[in-house]
Amino acid sequence: MLCSPAELTKKSQALLNAWQRYQLASSFENFVELAVSINSFTEFLIDKGITALHHASHQLEQVALALFNEEVRHPITPAASADLNERILALTRMIDSHVAAIEGLVERRHEPQHTASNTTRVGGIWLIGHDKASWQDLLTQLAYFGMAVDFLTWEQPVPDNVSSDPLLLLDISSLPEEEWQTRIKALRQQFTIGQLICLAVRSDFEQLQQALRIGCDGCLPEGTPLHTIVAQILELNERQEQEACRVLIVEDSMTASRVIQRTLEENQIITEAINDPRQVLHALKRFNPDLILMDMYMPNCTGVEAARIIRQHDEFLSIPIVYLSGETNVALQVDAMRLGGDHFLTKPFNPVFLNAIVKSKIERYRALRRSMYHDSLTGLLNHTSGKGTLDAMLSNVAHEGGTLSVAMLDIDHFKQVNDNYGHPVGDQIIRSLSWLLKQRLRKQDILCRYGGEEFLIGLPHTNAEQAHAIMDGIRQDFSEIRHPYRDTYFCTSASGGIATFPHYPSSDVLIKAADDALYAAKRGGRNRLQYADA
Ligand code: GH3
Ligand code: MG
Ligand code: MG
Ligand code: MG
Repeated sequence: MLCSPAELTKKSQALLNAWQRYQLASSFENFVELAVSINSFTEFLIDKGITALHHASHQLEQVALALFNEEVRHPITPAASADLNERILALTRMIDSHVAAIEGLVERRHEPQHTASNTTRVGGIWLIGHDKASWQDLLTQLAYFGMAVDFLTWEQPVPDNVSSDPLLLLDISSLPEEEWQTRIKALRQQFTIGQLICLAVRSDFEQLQQALRIGCDGCLPEGTPLHTIVAQILELNERQEQEACRVLIVEDSMTASRVIQRTLEENQIITEAINDPRQVLHALKRFNPDLILMDMYMPNCTGVEAARIIRQHDEFLSIPIVYLSGETNVALQVDAMRLGGDHFLTKPFNPVFLNAIVKSKIERYRALRRSMYHDSLTGLLNHTSGKGTLDAMLSNVAHEGGTLSVAMLDIDHFKQVNDNYGHPVGDQIIRSLSWLLKQRLRKQDILCRYGGEEFLIGLPHTNAEQAHAIMDGIRQDFSEIRHPYRDTYFCTSASGGIATFPHYPSSDVLIKAADDALYAAKRGGRNRLQYADA
């Protein structure tokens, strides 16, 4: 979640430079550069989840975009210029204090390790409310997932040792409206990089809107079920940095493609340009983009022809294609869309708009791909993609001469859980186990929902003993989770089998051996792990 201070300073400097260039020469072109720079900064803050700065940057962007389309009105009026100047300087000051706050934290950032038993975020988690007892269930649940939460009452001052990057959970239910707003504003100022989540917000639109406006990162309305609150907090804790977007530009004019590349790169988008559309299939395979920007008219092949050829390949059936062309004929545009395009932008393009279209198309495309490869209940890899990932990982490990352990994990007597407590509670148990796995395993491990209540886990560069120790810790903790049901709770358990490469030489053999070991563990009494070799 944290971005590097250097990266932030560089973006802020670029914005100041663009503003200074416009002040020296108030041309429309320089204003476009400024608008692009502000837009790029806002996008950057969204990507990094920096709510405190995003608000100011977004307002500045709105002001700049309102002046954007009035080409004839440049230079802008002295009043507008003074307003922009003030906003830019205010934003720069906020960035400076933000940079100072993150500088000390960056070094402490670390990758989760198998050995880590406490996965609480670096900045700590605090719950501020008036009655600890009413949140005890939440605190207990979070503790199962290795997250320690400290409680404070609204009367207590936030201790000096709270780092500048905490996750603050705020129970505002006991506070009058004006008071919680004042408190949140103060916390937002104090913790510019922390995350603020309001709990027990009255569930009306205006109240939720107000909470977001004053700087909350999220709100959970009163009556939100415990497991939803836990899910949100776990998600915030694990939120990973987005992979950079990748755009392939197919454009015969070198100049045009350079302009587009500059615009997109300004927004942290990785680009590659090809000038000959006949190379597009090759480029798609090599560069693996999230979107194609396609020129309409090129010497050897039109954009529409290239799009039709791309769409004939199953693996590129859903990749977004956006046409960029000087063509303003609506009938032609409609035809181009019919033949495999997703959007049509006319040249000269508005760079801010181009960026917005590209990002939103990519977001949808990625969501679509996620739903194809991941299980909807748990977010883990589904059966097919889990096996595929294991195959790929195994060939890498074999190439490096390393080891890889596979574990099959299955919840015990799950049919009884469904019968006794109902199917929705059963679903919740499946989710709990998957959260626990996500919290405990490394980013490079394979985590797959292999079947109903069965999980496939791949641990690269991990021998059988190490895998046993890791999985047994997870098994133990899972068996201790108290799942709330009506006014009481119940516990359940899971069993597992472990097999290791190279002893078992292929993924099919590994899975089969781990599965056999799993059934040996079931026969042996359940709530235990079993090696395949034994
Ligand atoms: P064992 O200890 O031997 O594994 O016993 P078990 O009851 O867990 O095993 P069995 O294979 O007999 O039953 C698994 C049950 O899991 C049956 C099925 O209805 C249930 N199940 C499968 N997928 C889901 C799901 O997505 N949600 C819920 N709630 N139940 C599911
Ligand atoms: Mg052309
Ligand atoms: Mg089972
Ligand atoms: Mg099963």
